[in-house]
Amino acid sequence: MIVDEILVLKEVSYKENDKILHVLSRTRGKIQLISKGAKKSNSHLINASQLFAYSKCYMTVSRDMYIITSADLIDNFYNLKNNMDAFFNGNYILELIGFVAQENEVDFRIFDMTVSVLHFLSTMSKDFDKLTAAYELKLVSMLGYKPDFRHCITCGNEINENSKFSIKDGGLLCPDCVNSGSGINVTYSEILTMEKILKTKFESIGSIEVNQKILQIIRNFLFYYIGKDNFTTLKLL
Ligand SMILES: [Zn+2]
Repeated sequence: MIVDEILVLKEVSYKENDKILHVLSRTRGKIQLISKGAKKSNSHLINASQLFAYSKCYMTVSRDMYIITSADLIDNFYNLKNNMDAFFNGNYILELIGFVAQENEVDFRIFDMTVSVLHFLSTMSKDFDKLTAAYELKLVSMLGYKPDFRHCITCGNEINENSKFSIKDGGLLCPDCVNSGSGINVTYSEILTMEKILKTKFESIGSIEVNQKILQIIRNFLFYYIGKDNFTTLKLL
């Protein structure tokens, strides 16, 4: 018997009464599970077998396939469904992590952060775009592309004025080095804001003033390093 925490990223109908769940697991990375009888209204697996379900799951393995035997729902982020904006952001997070996460590649920090951002998307009444941007920036940093908001990537000098942010080079270019690479003009205040987004916990994200340009830079930065920008759920946002 295997016990793990799982988050359902995608549910696929299988046979008459079953579902195949694509899940992010806390200690096994992205895996697929068979949830037998999950489509029946009296199934004890019904709650844990829905999109967004986060549960403690008991499973066995048979021929490389995980099979759920029982599950205790921890949260289903139900309130996401009460706000379209929160719901679309939540769907985008699932699609994003479904793309980024690899089978058997374990990073429980990413799992915990994903559950956490869904929690705040479902309990806060605004700032969904800021929450998502914070998730994107923290995620790309955990993947190994953490931008240094304090130093120039070329000369190493401390940044304390307007500079350029180069997505391709992964950081800031000070005024002396702007000619050595291309980038987006950012004010010192915008630089400090991006650093704050990276360091602030989700629950305090509402206190940061964020403009559209910063949201776009963060998203483009993430997309550049994960090598994908055409997420279906983004068309809904
Ligand atoms: Zn420099």
